[in-house]
Amino acid sequence: NKFKEGLAKTRNQFTSKVNDLVAKYRKVDEDFFEELEEILLQADVGFETVDELMEALRFEVQRKNIKDTAGIQSVISEKLVEIYEAGDENITELQLENEGLSVVLFVGVNGVGKTTTIGKLAHRLKGEGKKVMLAAGDTFRAGAIDQLQVWGDRVGVEVIKQAEGSDPAAVMYDAIRAAKTRNADVLICDTAGRLQNKVNLMNELEKIHRVISREIPNAPHEVLLALDATTGQNALVQAQTFKEATNVTGIVLTKLDGTAKGGIVLAIRTKLHIPVKFVGLGEQMDDLQPFDAEKYVYGLFA
Ligand code: GDP
Repeated sequence: NKFKEGLAKTRNQFTSKVNDLVAKYRKVDEDFFEELEEILLQADVGFETVDELMEALRFEVQRKNIKDTAGIQSVISEKLVEIYEAGDENITELQLENEGLSVVLFVGVNGVGKTTTIGKLAHRLKGEGKKVMLAAGDTFRAGAIDQLQVWGDRVGVEVIKQAEGSDPAAVMYDAIRAAKTRNADVLICDTAGRLQNKVNLMNELEKIHRVISREIPNAPHEVLLALDATTGQNALVQAQTFKEATNVTGIVLTKLDGTAKGGIVLAIRTKLHIPVKFVGLGEQMDDLQPFDAEKYVYGLFA
């Protein structure tokens, strides 16, 4: 169970604190609720989700006349899943064409794990029998093109690239042409991760969008934002900027295995209303998992 393994850090802190609390209080009362709230906030679940959860818990405790804390964990899990799934942002599957070329554009700040995620996703889609190609659209960061090529070689998919410093929109144009010629199913495009001022970011992404949609009207089919779970609230700030700059259709939350604050998944859902489509649970090729609220929450309490 990848989720269970990947969430070990969060589970060790968050769940053991909840378990300690349950043992300490025995009775469900206001003090218990208050301390639980504190633990949830420390796990980066976020104020909004915590408020929502506490309200749901209080209601449930009253309705079922729950007096003592034994077994309250399962009520918490149930409510967390309900809260997550109540949103309209639960389309976790990639929305790709059944026939013809689909384009997936990746955006995100340098260092969050964008290149690694592109490699992992290429591997996953290839495993589903799709012909995948990569476009090296980060022509700005030194080494970005080589790094993508390394992943291309590892996974066994072709990388379309130009020289460092060339126009990313021109790379996209080339890549789409090449992908069409080779009858590829999915073209995954990297982009530069500079978070300069928002206007520049917006202009650059707009230009890329324009070139892509001129070649394929429905493309890009997905714009996936890579966020580093270990950066906590900072990830939310990045997400807000990208959301304002372009139409982000999904989030890939990387390095969830590297943080004890895995509650950030829930904060993203409440704050941004963008579905988390995948989570990164390690550095290896098959450490990318489709996000599943139930597996995630039960992974925490397992
Ligand atoms: P980029 O600059 O956004 O393209 O970031 P990279 O793909 O180069 O990743 C930066 C570092 O994060 C690398 O050392 C990756 O191995 C690591 N990394 C990426 N995703 C994950 C993940 O899900 N879990 C862990 N533990 N490390 C990851």
